[in-house]
Parts: sequence; C-alpha cells; structure tokens
Amino acid sequence: MSPVGLRESCPGFAGMFPTHAVNGGFGHAFLRRSRAVAMLRSRAQKPCSVLGRSTRILVRCSDANPTERYVVEPASPPNDAGDEQLQPVASASLSQATCWTLSGMTLKELENFVSGMGEKPYRARQLYKWLYRPPVASQVDDMTDLGKLFREALASSARLHALSLREVREAQDGTRKLVYQVDGDSPGAVESVLIPASGRNTLCISSQLGCAMNCQFCFTGKMGLQRNLTAAEIVDQVTLTKARYESPRQASTQISNIVFMGMGEPFQNLDNVLRALEILLDPKAMGLSHRKVTVSTSGLVPEIRRYLRETSANLAVSLNATTNEVRNWIMPINRKYPLEVLLETLREEYARDARRGDKVFFEYVLLGGVNDSLDDAKRLLRLIAHIPCKVNLIPFNSHAGSEFRPSPLPQMEAFRQYLHERGVLVTLRRSRGDDKMAACGQLGNPGIGRTPPRMRVPDAFQKVLGTAPLQTRRSAGA
Ligand code: SF4
Repeated sequence: MSPVGLRESCPGFAGMFPTHAVNGGFGHAFLRRSRAVAMLRSRAQKPCSVLGRSTRILVRCSDANPTERYVVEPASPPNDAGDEQLQPVASASLSQATCWTLSGMTLKELENFVSGMGEKPYRARQLYKWLYRPPVASQVDDMTDLGKLFREALASSARLHALSLREVREAQDGTRKLVYQVDGDSPGAVESVLIPASGRNTLCISSQLGCAMNCQFCFTGKMGLQRNLTAAEIVDQVTLTKARYESPRQASTQISNIVFMGMGEPFQNLDNVLRALEILLDPKAMGLSHRKVTVSTSGLVPEIRRYLRETSANLAVSLNATTNEVRNWIMPINRKYPLEVLLETLREEYARDARRGDKVFFEYVLLGGVNDSLDDAKRLLRLIAHIPCKVNLIPFNSHAGSEFRPSPLPQMEAFRQYLHERGVLVTLRRSRGDDKMAACGQLGNPGIGRTPPRMRVPDAFQKVLGTAPLQTRRSAGA
C-alpha cells in the first residue's frame, strides 16, 4: 500500500498531511492535535465534521466512503518538535475507539460534544431533551428536529443508550424485575426492579455489576464485584424503564420514586452516581424531586460526607445491627467504620444548616434470632438518638444457600411497635417480588463471579443459625 492511504480513502484530505511513515498499511502524519483539528476543519471537503475529545478525533467527509477515523497519539518515536502522530484506527477497533454514548452526559458535556462537531450549543439542548424527556429517543432518527447531516454524523459516531432490555420477570404481586443487557466483555446483566403501589411507583436501580461489600445476608454480595456501572448505564435504567412503562395519559403509570438499592454499593461508584443524580434531578432533564430520589449505602463514612455536600437527594444507611459484634459479622464494612463512627458522622452532618429539614433513612433487615430482639430495638433507639431519621424495617428475603431466616411476623411487629411508641418514625415493609428473586437483597447472579469468603459466625449465634463451631465440625467430619 502506498503511503498516500489517507488521500485515497478520503479525498477531502488530499495533500493535507506530509506523510512520513507507513506502519501496518496506514499512512502516518505528524502534527499537533490542535493543529490537526484546525486543518481538518478548514481544509476538508465540505461537509465535514470533527469530533474531538480526549486523544481521539473522528473525521467525517462526504464522498462515497464517507467516514474515516483517526487517533492522535504521542509520536513514537517522538519527532523533533514533540508533535503527535495522526493515524487511522484499525478497523477492528473502530467501534471501541469512536463510539460515544450520549446517555449519561450532562448538558455541559453535550455542549462540548456538539462543539467538537462544529455545531451550535442549541444542538446540545435538543439532544438533552431527546435523551431524558419523554418521548425519549431510542435511535438517532427519532430526533426529527435535528438536521439530516447532523443526524448522519451522530449515527456514525455515537449511540444513544448503553443498555438494552433483555428480559422482564413479573412477580405475582405485580413487581417486575428488569434485566438489562450490557455490552462489552462484562458477564452478567444490570438488574432493576419496578415496584408498583397505590399512589406511587418505585424503581430500584443498580450502581454496580455485583458488589464487593460482602454483606452476609445479601444475594448480590455473593457475586463479588464485576465492575462499576457507567453513568449511562445508571441513567438508562431509569429512562428505558420509564419509556417502556409510563403512559403520558395515565398518571398512575408514572415512576415517582427512584431508589439506589439494587446491585452494588453506590458510594464505591460515587462519581458516576453523582453524575446520574445531576441528570435525574435537573428540571430540564428528568426533573425528579430530590425528596423522591434516595441513595443507600452500607456506611462508607468519607463518601457520606461528600454525598451530603454535593447533592440534595435523600440518603439511606443500611444499618442492620445494634452492636459492633453483629455488624462486623453481617456487614464487614463495619470493621472499617464502626457503628459509633458512622452514627456520629450522621449526627454531625445532619446538624449542619444545609441539611436542616432532611432526614436519613435507616434500613434495617430483620434476621430471625440475630438482630430482631427487643434488646436490639432498645439499643437502636439509643443509637439513633438526635439524628433526624426514619427507620424502615425490612423482612429478610431468603435465597439459596443462606444460613439466615426471616424474623417471625409477631417479632417484627413488636420491634416496630417499640420504636413507634417512643416517637420514632418507623415502617415495616412488605416483601415484594420475592417469587421472582426481585425482592430486596435478591438481585444478581452469584454464578458468574468468585464468591467472597463467608465471615465467621460469632459463637453466640452458631446455635441460632444451626452452624456448628468450626472445631466441632472438623472433629465431626474426621
Ligand atoms: S446489601 Fe448492598 S452493599 Fe451489601 S452486599 Fe448487598 S448490594 Fe452490596
């Protein structure tokens, strides 16, 4: 192949670059990235657009073979001027190299994106609306108020969404587990749960594929962590579910509440969660009320402080125990941030002016014989004193291989009553969707990852769980 491959494949750039080398069949040209973009814009055969971000640029011109993609990389070996090397991307890596996902982008990011294409800022506002306001576009051609050339440029360089719906499992009580396909090499799928109730519909979404926190009562925890979800993958769970189930003429179908209580510890993926929240709460995007969006954490203290400073969405803390002994066992994160540190942080943070009027939601999964006694209720009352809060008691949802069992209903009711009579805002939730593994703590697929080790059961609870002490088991098996 001749060193003029650039010219042959894209006549608009004939004569633009002095070609210095041929490597693997590609002609290389050395020039600074900013200079490359300027040259492409000014000298390409029209119409032509250049997408620029990071180290990648996309060149699109209007001949019969219209799209040529280039990557700008540090010159190797560097030339005298320290310039960069412009080279076409190998075809095998084209989609990876240049396919932008628009979902998950904030308005500012979309403005940068369209400006890189030589488009005016109002194009970003159009895209923003199509991405997040109903009717949400599912493909570029749905965006009928965009010019044809702009749509073509978008179609060749970007996709609108990161997820696609693979499966819906509907439980007898109307709860739906939505299984979303991710692309790339990641095993597994993103799971969300739509929980209809009279007066409100709640969507429970995931922030990670799997989870690293190893809470002992949680099915997802048995997967280990596969990876963080991108902001696009978080936002898509909301936009795609809304697009599928909401009907503009039926108020009862509107998704009113979003909770980050699906797969994953949101505060281990806080940058992407905050970016998703910006889109969920922005009135020009999804426009949800900050009081209707709740993010739940197992108790990562530094991230709690950051979260409370950077967003007005609600905070939920998954508490689940009233002693460090039990919490160290069922929620290993407690070894790093013990109960007194976690609760003192909340006391301080909610005393600050900016948070006045808000309250934290304490989630408390009732495990039979482990954390559901009246002594636990008494300790809980002391622990949460002077923290503006609401306590949500959650029945344990069994899953295969779990040594825990649900607390009996009278026990749960007595626990709730004790707190209620002492002025605590408290609810006892109903289990929803457990016949389709869609209930709290039942998401995920532990088969795809390496199961993290089980924590040692404290001696005091061996009998309750029916687990013999290690020494006894060894001698019994010998
Ligand atoms: S309860 Fe939440 S934080 Fe704990 S393992 Fe399950 S998904 Fe992770």
